[in-house]
Amino acid sequence: MQEVTFHNTLSRKAEPIVPTKGNVVGMYCCGPTVYAQAHIGNFRTFLNQDVMRRVLQTAGYKVIHVRNLTDVDDKTIARSIEEGRPLIEFTEHWTEVFHKDCDRFNMLAPQIEPKATAHIQEQIKMIEDLIERGHAYASEDGSVYFSVSSFDGYGKLSRIKDRELLTDATPNDEDKGAVDADEYSRDSAADFVMWKSRKPTDGDVYWESPWGEGRPGWHLECSAMAMKYLANNLDIHSGGVDLTFPHHENEIAQSECSCGHQKQFFKYWIHAAHLLVDNAKMSKSLNNFFTVDDIEAKGYAPVVLRYALTSGHYRQTINFNADSLVAAQSALVKLRKFSDEILTAAGLKRSAVFKEINKGKHLHDDWGQFADAWQKLSHDMNIPGALGGIFTAMKSKPGAEAVVPFHKLIFALGYDLDQVVIGKSKVEAPKEIKAIAQKRWEAKQAKDWGAADALRDELAAAGWKALDGKDGFVLEKV
Ligand code: AMP
Ligand code: ZN
Repeated sequence: MQEVTFHNTLSRKAEPIVPTKGNVVGMYCCGPTVYAQAHIGNFRTFLNQDVMRRVLQTAGYKVIHVRNLTDVDDKTIARSIEEGRPLIEFTEHWTEVFHKDCDRFNMLAPQIEPKATAHIQEQIKMIEDLIERGHAYASEDGSVYFSVSSFDGYGKLSRIKDRELLTDATPNDEDKGAVDADEYSRDSAADFVMWKSRKPTDGDVYWESPWGEGRPGWHLECSAMAMKYLANNLDIHSGGVDLTFPHHENEIAQSECSCGHQKQFFKYWIHAAHLLVDNAKMSKSLNNFFTVDDIEAKGYAPVVLRYALTSGHYRQTINFNADSLVAAQSALVKLRKFSDEILTAAGLKRSAVFKEINKGKHLHDDWGQFADAWQKLSHDMNIPGALGGIFTAMKSKPGAEAVVPFHKLIFALGYDLDQVVIGKSKVEAPKEIKAIAQKRWEAKQAKDWGAADALRDELAAAGWKALDGKDGFVLEKV
């Protein structure tokens, strides 16, 4: 195994990853709330987590990747009721959309993707343990709260104690600080809800519990599911920086108190900085977001967006703009051309090389001229530094010997180079042009070369050119 370091929010230091057990790294990522299509800000975090996993695998670790699906919370319930659809049917639809987007980005699927609604009993059990150990209490209306003052360690992740900690709150007392909402951003900590008694606004979404009908609060699901699936591999836990407080702080409190402090709830906490638009966080509530569909409609393949979203350091905010897509497209063309050249020199196919790398066949191969790029990538995932190292190594015009180290880095970065269109960046073609191009493609498939050529000329006269691939074509403005 090669050394991999990450900045740990818990210690505020870069630390080498030392798994609890052998070479297996447990990695829990807080997943999407499935009530709409994830925006590209969400994907900045998910893509950085994908690179995190790929870097660990490239270094020789086996990664157990768990990413949950939040399929019951204030937002999912409110939206499904608005649309008049049963909660499960509603969240399954958005889960499918999420999975399709992940595939378009060439993300590795987690081995375990647990849903909150499928783990209600585990969550109830955790609350029971917490009540028994004196860390939680039920209120008169049948909600259950975590008692922040019962846990000395509260605030160790977000250092919230250095700011303000309200411990004299009573349930439902917003002024004093007890909170019932799933999300809150106040600069103070308060007893927070773990079980929410059934309200009229919940419609028919509720479960039976020892405290009456209700549903879990959002923070609880990750504690219960991480403890279930990674009990012996509590290594890395990660999410966007907004999750540090209160979500992750609350997860630590619930999990460590429920087991009588026998286990540390994750050793390494890794947080990704936000994607901004005009210097504000991209978010659904601000309505300043884009989806991968929006960017594709502008003519950029998901790999271009992947590059743009991950080429800044994960701990620094980036402002999203069109220039970053143009720069990403041009960088990817260089990477794709270089890949084509060295593969031709070696007489190899890209897919075969990636297959071998994925199987771990080249784990111990030398990094050669790409050593500096790997050094950067494996130390606090410095992607901009690694890209700099790759482009510098490419300048010395290496040949076939570069195939393995170069493609190991491309694997770790997750770029699907086959998606890269060589040529000018794509501009969305009008409908009529697409129709002509489609006819030409069909004529070509039917080996009707005369018709295909005539249609090609028609496209050219209108200022367009079709570039053929294996399974279809892309249109380029000439
Ligand atoms: P959600 O679906 O709201 O639970 O968020 C899923 C993930 O996206 C979480 O890890 C958030 O921290 C992260 N996230 C939300 N907005 C942004 C943003 N603008 N930039 C980066 N990550 C974000
Ligand atoms: Zn979580």
